[in-house]
Amino acid sequence: MQREETVSEAEPGKPRPTRAPELNPFEAVNYFFDRAADHIGLKDEMRAIFRSSYRELTVQVPVRMDDGHLEVFTGYRVQHNAARGPYKGGVRYHPDADLDEVRALASLMTWKTAVVDIPFGGAKGGVQCDPKVMSVREKERLTRRFTQTISYILGINRDIPAPDVNTDAQTMAWMMDAYSSRYGYTPAIVTGKPVELGGSFGRAAATGRGVVYCLEDAARDLDINLDGATVAVQGFGNVGSWFARLVGDLGCRVVAVSDVRGAVYNPNGLEIPAVFDWSNESGSVVDAPGTETITNDELLELDVDVLVPAALDRVINEGNADRIKARIVVEAANHPVTPAADEVLHRAGKIVVPDILANAGGVTVSYFEWVQNIQQFRWEEEQVNAELRKTMSRAWSNVHGRATVDAIPLRLAAFAIALEKVEYADRLRGYV
Ligand code: GLU
Repeated sequence: MQREETVSEAEPGKPRPTRAPELNPFEAVNYFFDRAADHIGLKDEMRAIFRSSYRELTVQVPVRMDDGHLEVFTGYRVQHNAARGPYKGGVRYHPDADLDEVRALASLMTWKTAVVDIPFGGAKGGVQCDPKVMSVREKERLTRRFTQTISYILGINRDIPAPDVNTDAQTMAWMMDAYSSRYGYTPAIVTGKPVELGGSFGRAAATGRGVVYCLEDAARDLDINLDGATVAVQGFGNVGSWFARLVGDLGCRVVAVSDVRGAVYNPNGLEIPAVFDWSNESGSVVDAPGTETITNDELLELDVDVLVPAALDRVINEGNADRIKARIVVEAANHPVTPAADEVLHRAGKIVVPDILANAGGVTVSYFEWVQNIQQFRWEEEQVNAELRKTMSRAWSNVHGRATVDAIPLRLAAFAIALEKVEYADRLRGYV
């Protein structure tokens, strides 16, 4: 993945560059933030609060590996803002997870929970490791040690982790167990748990399902015909694979999907259930029967109607933005489009549905899971999906309405709405 050189950005009040530079992840999130802050006329003193984190914890995570040697990993939990409720956000395991990336993702969570109006703030965690080369037992030991080490800043009313890249329901089960063994049975301490341990029906599919709902609403309001529309999905993890399995309900045809090993393409449409089974059995979508193998870069540049980056950050950047052909880009991943690329897409008349709206279905159902845990009550999956639909559609129509009234792009509208909510909550609390 491309890592661009860092360019420092304009100070508040100083003229902004006419062209967005390529920035590191936290600078990039703050670039989007600053544009929205300018738009709503946010005071500089408030900017200083939102442009940094409330608390950043870096911890050492020593793990005895299966071969007997001790490996010392570095873990992070960043709490960005809790004006609207407890800190909330996932934990990712990735070799590139560093403080800057986790900070950026924590800030995005603050804006995401505000856009969908659920009573949480924003946080993120990460451990810099390569889970692809670790055994299940090594991952379990890592998870338990990381959880114990950060446990004193967690709490069901303080900070509630969830899955993210390379973590899943099993990871959450270990986290809950590690926390509960110290503090007593506490299912609400994490969301995205297995259903058998207090997880919510519909949580695993929620992010992908929310992206489908968002695409449906966007297509209706922006006059995009989805009947027979072609879709390319970059990433076939939890989010991408659920999205690909569900988007057919809108009448679309998924023509390409990918994972870290490469992409598969069939211009007539992929048999998604077959590709899913193939990927589960062989460990990759590559070589699924009836498909042609292409690269991840080629997938992004396919001549499709809808492009859904559902993997890592910054995959659409200054290097490829002018070759994106899709009419609408729906950000299922967090921060897949850099500020420079965002401008190129905007100038080319492309629609970008921003991450803090499009992929908010996951944290929305996390909220439902937390509510169910606290109430010690279980909702049916139909109720979960119906509430998710309502939340996503309300958020879409707020963002689209604001974008229309202010004549601004959807990302700027989403950030503006979020900023106003968080700033108002901070003021009501008397924080400033
Ligand atoms: N990791 C997901 C996200 O980036 C979900 C976070 C959560 O459920 O707390 O939105």
